Amino acid sequence: MPLLVVGSVALDSVETPTDRRDNVLGGSAVFFSYAASYFTTVRLVGVVGEDWPDAHTQLLRQRSIDTEGLQVVPGKKTFRWRGKYLPNMNDRETLEVHLNVFGEFQPKLPDSYRACRYLFLANGSPRLQMSVLDQVPVPRLAVADTMDLWIREEREDLMRLLRRIDGLVLNDSEARLLTDEENLVRAGHLVRGMGPKFVVIKKGEHGAMFFSEHETYVLPAYPTEYVVDPTGAGDSFAGGMMGYLAARDDFSPKTLKESMAYGILVASFTVEDFSLNRLQRMERSDIDIRMEEYQRMLSF
Ligand code: AMP
Repeated sequence: MPLLVVGSVALDSVETPTDRRDNVLGGSAVFFSYAASYFTTVRLVGVVGEDWPDAHTQLLRQRSIDTEGLQVVPGKKTFRWRGKYLPNMNDRETLEVHLNVFGEFQPKLPDSYRACRYLFLANGSPRLQMSVLDQVPVPRLAVADTMDLWIREEREDLMRLLRRIDGLVLNDSEARLLTDEENLVRAGHLVRGMGPKFVVIKKGEHGAMFFSEHETYVLPAYPTEYVVDPTGAGDSFAGGMMGYLAARDDFSPKTLKESMAYGILVASFTVEDFSLNRLQRMERSDIDIRMEEYQRMLSF
């Protein structure tokens, strides 16, 4: 089943304790699409300015990502984000965000996109996420991501969105901010009480937690030695997870758990280099090999 994603398409500048990159390909929808493309057909909705190198679009097309929904606005600038990682490589500081053309984005979905049944509303303003939801008449599964900026500044819209989606993916600090609850198990259930049928809390190097009415569990991260740049790990996690669900066209509890594992494994590749560099060198068979190791690691 094709999978529709809307979110940021960005030029990122990233500083780690030992290295840095400026104006590299990034954005929530970009990491998501690339990760999901290993599992299913992806239709991307986003916006860029005239500073956007066409080579980036070509890179996405090489993985058969449909970019008909990627608008290029002349005379405007692409969304830019600059972040800096602390020595633990898990916590980061946002140094600059320039929404630019993404701030005024009012997407109009191409007709071919409206029939999509699997929908991911990647990190972006809740108003933008809802405007896409409004244009997809009967999604089978609608899942969203969010972040501290929107929790702080657009909480009412976010609460409205939460009542309309099936799943929410967010990280541990965002779950605490949204619920004002330090205990993540309680926070997960509180977020579920805000509307979504399931909630996933990402915990960086500590894996991810899943909450539904009947199940609560945690899966560990794949232990990788080479953490070069964690940017996009959360979006790649969601891409692997949603890509697998859309490919299976099923979201039973068993498939959801498998999809969490695929998300974790794709993210473990993303962090091994800057931008999409590691994923560009990754084959589907690499994910499968890691899955075998991961399953061996978890059975005792
Ligand atoms: P992640 O590391 O998975 O949380 O995602 C990092 C990506 O999110 C970067 O490539 C940024 O371009 C993008 N990003 C950062 N801030 C925002 C924001 N306010 N809205 C949408 N995307 C963002």
